[in-house]
Amino acid sequence: MYEILVVEDEPSLLEMIQLNLELEGFSVTTCNHGRKALEWAAEADRFDLIILDVMLPEVSGLDICRAIRQQSDVPVLFLSAKGTTVDRIAGLKLGANDYLPKPFDLEELLLRVHVLIRTKEKNTVSSETLKIGGKEVVFSTFEVVDLASGARQLLTKREIELLQLFQSRKDQVVSRDEILGALWGNDQYPTGRTIDNYILNFRKIFEKDAKNPLYFHSIRGVGYKFTLPE
Ligand code: CA
Repeated sequence: MYEILVVEDEPSLLEMIQLNLELEGFSVTTCNHGRKALEWAAEADRFDLIILDVMLPEVSGLDICRAIRQQSDVPVLFLSAKGTTVDRIAGLKLGANDYLPKPFDLEELLLRVHVLIRTKEKNTVSSETLKIGGKEVVFSTFEVVDLASGARQLLTKREIELLQLFQSRKDQVVSRDEILGALWGNDQYPTGRTIDNYILNFRKIFEKDAKNPLYFHSIRGVGYKFTLPE
């Protein structure tokens, strides 16, 4: 069972988050005080995700995040009433993985929680390379190697992340929203069109016939499906 630590000093919000995470099947530890949360930071690795309010009495969420990062790479999702760019960037610079301004949709919170936990899972089990047709993606160097000719091509970080997401969700339909959430977080959202362009580019690289793709399929009105036929 996945363990989530929720640090939030507003009792009704804390209770609402806890209840809904438990309904989703997560095990939840709650904390309503900044200083107590600093103690938890030393044990950050026992959690699969930490949801952290920025504005806390005595010790701010930013300080707690800094302390967590000295111990652990556990995903951190910031909650804050201060939706300003400066605050968001401060959080991300300290190593937060995502940022959700208050007030937020419960559904959006849960979506992000699932994405962050899946990303963590993926990072733990992901292999070093991915073979697609006659080409091999090397995740550590961002390269695609043509196995016949040895020709190498460089991908961008986002392209690599998108391929890793597809790898972890092979044979499943992945929605545009999920891709946006996983790759762009709460950054300025690109449009669905941006993702279409990524896919068009993948087809150019990996498909023999881009019009009849074997690997990167469009699911009309929903998103994409990655398959690796034998
Ligand atoms: Ca607060």
